[in-house]
Amino acid sequence: MTLSRQTILKSIPKVDRVLDLPEVRHFLGQFSRPEVLLVIRQVLKHLRESVGSGTQSSLPDNKTIIGMIDAGLKSRSVPSLRPVINGSGVVVHTNLGRSPLSESAEQAIHAVSSGYSNLEFDLISGERGSRYSHVEGLLCELTGSEAALVVNNNAAAVILALSTLAQGREVIVSRGELVEIGGSFRIPDVMSQSGARLVEVGCTNRTHSRDYLGAITDSTGLLLKVHTSNFAIVGFTAETTLPEMSAVGREAGIPVMLDAGSGCLIDLSPYGIKGEPTIRQYLESGADLVTFSGDKLLGGPQAGIIVGQKKLIEPMKKHPLLRALRMDKLNLASLEATLRLYRDERLALAEIPTLRMLTFSAKELSNRADRIIRYLRKQLPKTVSLIRHPGESSAGGGSFPLLQLPTTLIEVKINVSTPCRIESVLRRTTTPVVGRVHRDRFLLDARTILDADFSPLLASLQEAAIILSGK
Ligand SMILES: *Cc1c(COP(=O)(O)O)cnc(C)c1O
Repeated sequence: MTLSRQTILKSIPKVDRVLDLPEVRHFLGQFSRPEVLLVIRQVLKHLRESVGSGTQSSLPDNKTIIGMIDAGLKSRSVPSLRPVINGSGVVVHTNLGRSPLSESAEQAIHAVSSGYSNLEFDLISGERGSRYSHVEGLLCELTGSEAALVVNNNAAAVILALSTLAQGREVIVSRGELVEIGGSFRIPDVMSQSGARLVEVGCTNRTHSRDYLGAITDSTGLLLKVHTSNFAIVGFTAETTLPEMSAVGREAGIPVMLDAGSGCLIDLSPYGIKGEPTIRQYLESGADLVTFSGDKLLGGPQAGIIVGQKKLIEPMKKHPLLRALRMDKLNLASLEATLRLYRDERLALAEIPTLRMLTFSAKELSNRADRIIRYLRKQLPKTVSLIRHPGESSAGGGSFPLLQLPTTLIEVKINVSTPCRIESVLRRTTTPVVGRVHRDRFLLDARTILDADFSPLLASLQEAAIILSGK
């Protein structure tokens, strides 16, 4: 006999009765009364909704309700935002927080977060200072730029630049560069937000200097080039180079801006990462303004960096939008610390995790996988096996879309569990592990597993082994 919804609804106990259950009273030793009450209400509401929608079609017994309250209270003691282990091999993984910070960046955050700082105070004059002054000199030194400004992220940098330089004016962009970065950053939309009018030129696969030249009018405010960060057009293609665009811009007296996306301060071609000019090279090739991210290839915190001509950047410093787009002191401290490492390229490559992971040699990765496997094997139960495979990792973060970096993968097998089951269990351990399933294997990439991850990775695999122990 099936019970009517009404009957089941009526059988759901009242809050007070649930609170009187001895098992629930027991929770009061660990959690406050308002907290326990809140969770009881949430559980009962959920039950009523499940009955209402038909997903719950039987009487919930006390044991089930107590179990739900227990789970609800437990989940409250774990923060929502927390560390995970990136075994995906994608170095700049936007969903996993992009770049892990260097030790000096971490220390810089600590130093200014636990007390007061000279964020906007000029210690020499004793007067009000500018938060932007802390990194402008460094950015000029590292890129050869005349001026620099930092904001919350690169999307903000593009919006600020367009709003300042091209509001109510036309901005010429190639049809091959009307990019969507993801998370709804689309060049045409950003353009309309900033009050500039988009003028598309050329074709998806080919745009020439003469296309820009032909589109220039009295209302043209800017020529914009956008780094096609996350895709590539191959075949019969022609892209107007920066020097060509710069020649057109100079002739017409119109500035040329480049949204460089990832932005790189050092030449990575000796490490097999080719085709990404440095920001200094972009400026030398004639860009009047370049914007890029702080947390992609640069390996720092979330930030948008603007470099280029002083006469273009000065008005941005006075624009009312800047206040809304400004960077906070913690990111500023960590950006400064990251940039300071770039004064010595070798130091940057050794200390900035993103650069270190991108430039590992095949031999280093192979040794790394061996180290991880040796460390884990010693302490894992027999039900877990770890097998090496050659594979490929990617840069991520909308940089080098076609680049595949050779790496060493570690396949994890637990009992007779399917790779998808292992993937889903490891995603929910105390320190979640994110790997990938490929060709019926669950794989972890040695490249993106940090040294500090070894011990939590072991703990997570031990947890998974218990859960998948063949019950
Ligand atoms: C990533 C990217 C952006 C957005 O940068 P955020 O720092 O994420 O705001 C804009 N343009 C290009 C070309 C990008 O690659």
